[in-house]
Amino acid sequence: MMPLLEIENLSVNYGAIQAVRGLSLTVEEGEVVTLIGANGAGKTTTLRAVSRLLRPRAGRIVFAGRDLSRAAPDEAVRLGIAQSPEGRQVLARQSIQDNLELGAYTRRDPAGVRADIAEMYDRFPRLGERRTQLAGTLSGGEQQMLAIARALMSRPRLLLLDEPSLGLAPLIVREIFDIIRTLNESGTTILLVEQNARLAMSRSHRTYVLEAGQMTFFGESAELISDERVLHAYLGG
Ligand code: ATP
Repeated sequence: MMPLLEIENLSVNYGAIQAVRGLSLTVEEGEVVTLIGANGAGKTTTLRAVSRLLRPRAGRIVFAGRDLSRAAPDEAVRLGIAQSPEGRQVLARQSIQDNLELGAYTRRDPAGVRADIAEMYDRFPRLGERRTQLAGTLSGGEQQMLAIARALMSRPRLLLLDEPSLGLAPLIVREIFDIIRTLNESGTTILLVEQNARLAMSRSHRTYVLEAGQMTFFGESAELISDERVLHAYLGG
């Protein structure tokens, strides 16, 4: 079976900094795959290359059989890739409703968009109760839910989640991971970047470990979670 996402030999530079070097990974349809590594390992850079927010220096990214080399970010969204960015980046001075509508910016089916917003309010009742409230007034956990809901508004096949647990209390982190599980069970494939490596590995099928822009380990999460070398890698060596 063809993987949903295939990254081949990806290299990304920021000027003279080689942020990602020769990275290859695959994500199969239906999987939750975790990308872990110390600060600066290149995790966010990898996600941003997949969503086409930055241009790789080399390598290929193939999504559902399509080469994304020339795709612009909005094309990636149309093809079925959505990202919930690090730090959530909700529009603080806009309402929850506006933020959700923004997530649907590539769609041309207003009735479908309205139906999906209603579905988000069912799925995330705390957003439903506050739909006219400005996003900046939400708690960190609610903003994270909004960032995920906004990404879902494009009806992605692949959801890229960048540090969804960042800065959240343990109880809220559990809630976010339960949401991730439910989304995956209802058919969304997920590529997850996490600092909370143990939790992410315990809730994903497979894991890739990045160190200084290069992949050093990969495998079944259940096996890597008890591997001393992996522990060392994500703690920064
Ligand atoms: P973190 O968990 O801290 O976000 P990360 O694994 O996601 O880390 P990246 O953000 O992808 O790492 O960064 C990889 C490398 O690229 C780091 O050395 C970082 O300093 C550098 N880098 C990232 N963004 C830029 C940028 N816009 N300009 C210059 N260098 C950058």
